Amino acid sequence: MDLCDINQIRPLLERHGFHFSKALGQNFLIESWVPRDIAESSGAGPGTGVLEIGPGIGPLTVQLAQRADRVAAVELDKALLPILAETLADHPNATVIPGDVMKLDLAALVKEQFPGLKALVCANLPYNITTPVLTLLLESGLFSAVTVMIQKEVAQRICAGPGSKDYGAFSVLCQYYASCELLFEVPRECFLPAPKVTSAVVRLKACPPPDYIHDKTLFFRVVRGAFGLRRKTLLNALANAFPYSKETLAGCIAAAGLPADIRGERLGLKEFATLSDQLAALA
Ligand code: SAM
Repeated sequence: MDLCDINQIRPLLERHGFHFSKALGQNFLIESWVPRDIAESSGAGPGTGVLEIGPGIGPLTVQLAQRADRVAAVELDKALLPILAETLADHPNATVIPGDVMKLDLAALVKEQFPGLKALVCANLPYNITTPVLTLLLESGLFSAVTVMIQKEVAQRICAGPGSKDYGAFSVLCQYYASCELLFEVPRECFLPAPKVTSAVVRLKACPPPDYIHDKTLFFRVVRGAFGLRRKTLLNALANAFPYSKETLAGCIAAAGLPADIRGERLGLKEFATLSDQLAALA
């Protein structure tokens, strides 16, 4: 069965009495090149175990199961479980795990499902949980790479560099844990129902934390502080986030080699790290 052929999907969904849920971000793929190319980009292959989030009716799951040793697909919507039992019947290396990915013990899942395998994530993510789920996956440190289809705007934010309008605290978070790459865009027409926005596929390849960041907690406090008041200068933003006088903070900014009137959005990870070191010296 072609799980992207709308003439086959509609009768399948009708037979199971399935109705799309907007709240669960259900936009299913109806162009077969899309799950194929996402799976191909994900690194799924011999020796890998892939966690998929939200298999829907399984078009990406099938592509992953054809490549990886094992696939564990976490699906929150119980109504999809009998459909998946049917569509994945020929793929015994794919297991559906009912539940909410945000509430799962990911470490236990990886240990149980992927023993001896390199763990990856690949998904067409429900848009409403993109940021928290990516944060969870990156912070877990469990996965070598995370390849996901998300809203194009969020993909641009993840990959943005200092000075760009898309650059923010979430860009820094993603780039702290991974090297991030926007791979390709996917038009609205590739989904049923069509979402309002264009999508894009990003690949986040895990990398060791930058060795120039000495205090991760303080580093992220500085980053959040710097972007907290985006329209203000770095000095004003930090004054709002830290219990130090403006004179003291201005001294840290100068000692980090930064102009007095710089805005936080112009700092790269290295500059944030140097600034954090200056703030650490105050404690
Ligand atoms: N992979 C399918 C495809 O590409 O056609 C469906 C993708 S659809 C954008 C998102 C899927 O995630 C839906 O099947 C939805 O039910 C599921 N989902 C939503 N929230 C979830 C959660 N918190 N945990 C697991 N699955 C979730």
